[in-house]
Amino acid sequence: GKNVYFFGGGQADGDGTFRELLGGKGANLAEMSRIGLPVPAGFTISTEVCTYYYDNGRTLPATLDDEVKENLGKIEETMGKKFGDVNNPLLLSVRSGARDSMPGMMDTILNLGINDEVVAGLAAKTGNERFAYDSYRRFLQMYGEVVMGVEQYEDEHHDPFEAIIDAACEKRGVAVDTGLTGEDLKGIVEAFKALIKERTGNDFPQDPMTQLWGAVKAVFTSWNNDRAKVYRRKYGIPAEWGTAVNVQAMVFGNSGQTSGTGVAFTRDPASGENVFYGEYLVDAQGEDVVAGVRTPKPVAEMVNDLPKSYEELLEVRQKLENHFKDVQDLEFTVEDGKLYILQTRNGKRTGLAAVHIAIDMVNEGLIQKEDAIRRIPAEDLEHMLAPIFDAKAEREANKIGKGLPAGPGAACGRIYFHAPDAVAAAARGEKVVLTRVETSPEDLRGMIAAEGILTSRGGVSSHAALVARQMGKICVCGAAEVEIDYANATVKAGGVTIKEGEYISINGTTGDIYAGEIKTAPSRVVQGLIQGDAEAMSHDDYKKFAQLISWADELRKLNVRTNSDSPEQVKNAIAFGAEGIGLTRTEHMFFEGDRIDAVREMILADSENARREAVAKLLPYQKEDFVGIFTALEGRPGTIRLLDPPLHEFLPHTKEQQLDLANKMGIQVEEIMRRVAELHEFNPMLGHRGCRLGIVFPEITEMQARAILEAAAEVDGAKPEIMVPLVGFKKELDLQKEVIDTVAGEVREKYGLTEDQLAYTVGTMIEVPRAALTANEIAETAEFFSFGTNDLTQTCLGMSRDDAGGFLNEYQEQEIVTTNPFASLDQTGVGQLVEMGVEKGRSTRPGLKVGICGEHGGDPNSVKFCHKAGLDYVSCSPFRIPIAKLAAAQAAL
Ligand code: ADP
Ligand code: MG
Ligand code: MG
Repeated sequence: GKNVYFFGGGQADGDGTFRELLGGKGANLAEMSRIGLPVPAGFTISTEVCTYYYDNGRTLPATLDDEVKENLGKIEETMGKKFGDVNNPLLLSVRSGARDSMPGMMDTILNLGINDEVVAGLAAKTGNERFAYDSYRRFLQMYGEVVMGVEQYEDEHHDPFEAIIDAACEKRGVAVDTGLTGEDLKGIVEAFKALIKERTGNDFPQDPMTQLWGAVKAVFTSWNNDRAKVYRRKYGIPAEWGTAVNVQAMVFGNSGQTSGTGVAFTRDPASGENVFYGEYLVDAQGEDVVAGVRTPKPVAEMVNDLPKSYEELLEVRQKLENHFKDVQDLEFTVEDGKLYILQTRNGKRTGLAAVHIAIDMVNEGLIQKEDAIRRIPAEDLEHMLAPIFDAKAEREANKIGKGLPAGPGAACGRIYFHAPDAVAAAARGEKVVLTRVETSPEDLRGMIAAEGILTSRGGVSSHAALVARQMGKICVCGAAEVEIDYANATVKAGGVTIKEGEYISINGTTGDIYAGEIKTAPSRVVQGLIQGDAEAMSHDDYKKFAQLISWADELRKLNVRTNSDSPEQVKNAIAFGAEGIGLTRTEHMFFEGDRIDAVREMILADSENARREAVAKLLPYQKEDFVGIFTALEGRPGTIRLLDPPLHEFLPHTKEQQLDLANKMGIQVEEIMRRVAELHEFNPMLGHRGCRLGIVFPEITEMQARAILEAAAEVDGAKPEIMVPLVGFKKELDLQKEVIDTVAGEVREKYGLTEDQLAYTVGTMIEVPRAALTANEIAETAEFFSFGTNDLTQTCLGMSRDDAGGFLNEYQEQEIVTTNPFASLDQTGVGQLVEMGVEKGRSTRPGLKVGICGEHGGDPNSVKFCHKAGLDYVSCSPFRIPIAKLAAAQAAL
């Protein structure tokens, strides 16, 4: 088949759609040539040749030689120069180019085709000896390093080629190489050739064709250099893709003051502003602009240095955007006042810029709103929601350590180690960073009170991280190098000791930890949504964000609900666009204040009566909670899950707690100890939890059902959906539903309401494999399903979320799992249980309402899966609602 694809002179064999075959760079060079942009002629050797090269002991296909010669002839014809010709030489660049750009990972060789004779001819033809020898020395340097393997020795401070240049500069008394004369460069050329001979034992090849084949093979070889391999692993680029090789006529930005080279973005990739953005250097070549030897100038100044080319460049900017319909990141070179475009690709941008650019382009009529939705990575919306450090203040701050970025944003506050202290400090009006080795549900109030949470143990799926995400708290977790000393109430890191009550600052977007206080501000979007702040709402950030979400709302099929446990959270979630609650965890309410005592009494009670008495104490609290939640919901549906945590979390474990409780209950502490010992579990996560509590202690279910339904009776438009957790057998749900229905009858009677007036549904979480496997049976009773994918992942994989931190990194590194299954749904495994659950459930109850309420409900890839699996809604933490909406809209396109 065809291995080589020509481009140049206003035409091309390939085009922009040939990415797989020609790589991103080659495909876009072809496309640019086709639309009449000034691209130096060249040809692309396809990625298939790279595959051949590796499959055949690093050899090239037999036909390649002829194809290359033929296409080289076309370049010569187009450019009016000849490869290897002393009087009118064509020089070439040999460039790598994979399907996805891998910036700086592989090698490029410029000025190929020069030798001792050609350089003299080039000098004579251009009348510019300096330029000719500058080009030759650049070629020798690149070829020496990339093809012939000259390396910097370990005991050398400097690249050996650069050392020769530095010595020449010193001798001439100039700071950089632009100050060197043609004579100096001639000397450097000789020194380079000697260096190559000395280091490799081989002479630098004078024959241009030999040079070309050496360079082509070197580019293929660079596909498997260490840098490229590491990069591929990090970004999930398969080794099979291979790289293409682009061989292209050289144009010379280093041929004097009317020449130059630069890089530019068609718009500002940091802010998204529609301004031309980039930099350039006069009399420079290749990567001089990014190498940092000379300081490049802002592209706008080209209007002074190279005015005609700048005009042309502005036209190219327009033409590129109009054609590619996205921000372009381009490379250009000016040779003697003539502009050439050497590369273009879609520009990488920040989340903020992504939103601005997409909306602007719709407004400009360049793209459709569907394109805007499609091209903004849903996850990137987070950047617009998180509070931020003042950039200058952060640069100047004292960084003392780093952890995992678990809750994005910036927080600073005084350190407190225990939840009650954090709460008290916050009540005094202090800003708090709750700093703990790890957190547990009992720390919740402290976490709510804190600006940010710092832990030294646990990964991004640890309790601290999970709660932080749900609450939109800033969190840095698992900062192993931070020493937390509860006994002395100090934090030690980076040689600094911070005492309780002193300031620390954490950046949850990067994981960086600083001593002292750094200034922050909430993002404008959040100010607008939550506080309705008029100034924020009139800001462009807010308006564009709101525009984007309204388009997502039009296009998506999935509903988006929230996981929220308090009226305050529900209000925020609704401000973020929630259409109801997908999960309220009622156990959080049990840990607040003195309520835990009543729960403990209930569990430790030895008679049903004693149990009822204890439970009754909780009823008013729970009812109040639900009244608040239904009120905040303003008629939207609310799924409330009955009590779930393992029994052992309720038990008094310390002697002190046991004595205290014995006093309150008026019984012997020995009695308490005996009961605690009796209730001890070896594996609480698989023990007495979920509906198993309600089955053994129906009083709890009864109380909770009463609290929910009385609250519903008292709040207009309340739509309670009562969810029974951890069901694996239909009978479990039957029994719990019976309890709920009985209570409902009593509540209706108490309030004088009909069935229609106090309506509710009873459903279940699907969170153990048996529930998914028998979903057809369970759906006979269940009026809705909600996939609790946190537990479903744990039970399907047999992997504890809280303990997986110890090995999951290794698993990801060894590519056993590609992503953390607790963060992004394991679609091939757990996903099958979800699909099966939906299908079997709807086989007995057509139209069964199905949602998901695990952490995955806010993960874009998981949301897309949920759309495909036919779910009715996803539910996630308030701050992830816009992200879920965008992902849902993307799934629907
Ligand atoms: P990368 O993928 O690492 O950016 P490139 O293949 O784009 O590598 O080459 C690096 C630089 O070499 C380009 O930015 C450009 O300045 C220079 N270059 C490449 N091809 C040519 C050419 N035909 N003429 C002049 N300069 C070139
Ligand atoms: Mg490069
Ligand atoms: Mg490039």
